[in-house]
Amino acid sequence: MTNASRIHGHDARKVSALVGANLSVQPGEFVAIMGPSGSGKSTLLHLAGGLDTPTTGAVRVEGTDLASMSATQRAVIRRRSVGYVFQDFNLLPSLTAAENVAFPLELDGWPMRKARREALAVLAETGVADLADRRPENMSGGQAQRVAIARALVGPRRLLLADEPTGALDSSTGTDILRLLRGRADNGAAVLMVTHEARFAAWTDRTLFLRDGKIIDESGPSDPTQLLAQGAL
Ligand code: ADP
Ligand code: MG
Repeated sequence: MTNASRIHGHDARKVSALVGANLSVQPGEFVAIMGPSGSGKSTLLHLAGGLDTPTTGAVRVEGTDLASMSATQRAVIRRRSVGYVFQDFNLLPSLTAAENVAFPLELDGWPMRKARREALAVLAETGVADLADRRPENMSGGQAQRVAIARALVGPRRLLLADEPTGALDSSTGTDILRLLRGRADNGAAVLMVTHEARFAAWTDRTLFLRDGKIIDESGPSDPTQLLAQGAL
């Protein structure tokens, strides 16, 4: 993303949600985004995944400017290559967990049984295989979050965007999810995660700090041994 800005509203009600953001995430890289509420973290993620477009500046996914694509092309990229964990989960209420997770694969033309098999495997990875046939209304917040994470991880996703994916989880489940995301990065996905938990820095390659819509600081590769020594883990 090059010099990307996003302004909401007009005139006196103008809000600069993101200002001149420059960011590049490579395959295999796991980047954490931290910053106070309202600092532009979700906006940055929305732009990176093509769910929103910058007011000025450019966002490229695998070298192609999202603005140069048709809406249909962008939709295909979002469905096929980008996995998104929303802050409010966004599960479809009328579908079971397995159907929610299989849904993006089916839209992409996978045969139903193969999509279901794949969905069950990823639900097992996020620790909720036993909820496969349950609908979101019958899940706790933490369970719904794990199903939402499974939906983002299913299929050959090359870019994973997670907006506070561990917010509703206890700390040991949170660590399990970090291990999963780290594994996807190690297998070649680019991973961007919004988090409030500094202890997760040990799992990521670098951390971006946002304030008032600006990227204010970027820490280099984190050193887990140093964090351990500081008692952060
Ligand atoms: P964060 O995720 O860091 O809490 P956001 O990216 O959601 O921050 O929001 C950044 C700023 O942009 C906030 O001031 C927020 O109120 C504003 N904002 C976000 N989305 C909209 C919108 N659709 N309309 C108007 N203002 C918005
Ligand atoms: Mg947010």
